[in-house]
Amino acid sequence: MATNSAAAVDLEDVQTVDLMSELLRRMKCASKPEKRLIFIGPPGSGKGTQSPVIKDEFCLCHLSTGDMLRAAVAAKTPLGVKAKEAMEKGDLVSDDLVVGIMDEAMNRPKCQKGFILDGFPRTVTQAEKLDEMLKRRGSEIDKVLNFAIDDSILEERITGRWIHPSSGRSYHTKFAPPKVPGVDDVTGEPLIQRKDDNADVLRSRLDAFHNQTEPVIQYYGQKGKLVNIPAEKPPQEVTAEVKKAVSA
Ligand code: ADP
Ligand code: AMP
Repeated sequence: MATNSAAAVDLEDVQTVDLMSELLRRMKCASKPEKRLIFIGPPGSGKGTQSPVIKDEFCLCHLSTGDMLRAAVAAKTPLGVKAKEAMEKGDLVSDDLVVGIMDEAMNRPKCQKGFILDGFPRTVTQAEKLDEMLKRRGSEIDKVLNFAIDDSILEERITGRWIHPSSGRSYHTKFAPPKVPGVDDVTGEPLIQRKDDNADVLRSRLDAFHNQTEPVIQYYGQKGKLVNIPAEKPPQEVTAEVKKAVSA
C-alpha cells in the first residue's frame, strides 16, 4: 500500500540511533498505566511549561487547544478564520469549534496511553461534552490538576513569555530564558511573542477565566477529581508537585 511504502522510505532515512531510542521509549511506555488528565488554570499559570515534562514521563500526548487554534489561524484554515477575532480580543471561541478539534485530536496514535488536556475544557458546556466524548470511548477523566495562582503574578509571566510556535515550547525572559536570546533551544528556530500576550488582552482573558472557567473547577471538584497545585512556586518545585499528584 502507498502509505506503508512511504512510511518504509521514511524509516530508512532515520538514523539508527534515533530508531533505537524510539524503540526503547516505546518499550518503556508499554508498561505505563493509562492516564487522562486535565491541566486547568489562568493564562500564565504554567500549564504549557509543565505539560512537555509530564507527557514524556508518563507517555501521554499533550493536547493544547490554544496551540491548535493558533496553528489554524496561521494556516488561515476555515477554523482559524472563525477563531481569530475572539482570540485577539481575549474572548473564548465557540464551544462547538473547540469540542470538534478535541474529539479529532484524541484519536492520534500518540494519545494511546492517554493525554494531558491543556486549556480545555474552559466552560461547563465543554466539560459536559468532553464527558460524553469519553463515555462513547468507554473512558473518563482521571484527574484535574488546578494550577492555583494569584492574578497579580500573571502579568509579568505573560508579558515576558516567548514561544516556539511549532512545538508550543514556552520561555521567559527572566524566569526561563533560552540559551540564546530569541532562539528555540531544541531547533534553533526563532521565538515569537503571542499577539494576545499583553497587559490589555490579559485582562479580558482573566475575566473569561474567572467567569467561564472557574465553574469548571467546581464541576470537577464535585466529582472528586480535583487536585490543587501551588503554581506560584519555582518551575522545578511545581514539576515535583505535579508528578506527585499524577502518580498518586
Ligand atoms: P500557561 O500555559 O498556563 O499559559 P506557561 O507555561 O506558558 O503558562 O507559562 C507562562 C510564562 O511563565 C512562560 O513564559 C513560562 O516560562 C513562565 N513560567 C512557567 N512556570 C513558571 C514558574 N513556576 N515560575 C516562573 N515562571 C514560570
Ligand atoms: P491559550 O493558549 O490556552 O492561552 O488560549 C489562547 C486563546 O485561544 C484563548 O484566549 C481563547 O480565545 C482560545 N481558546 C483556547 N482554548 C479554548 C477553549 N477550550 N475554549 C474556547 N476558547 C479557547
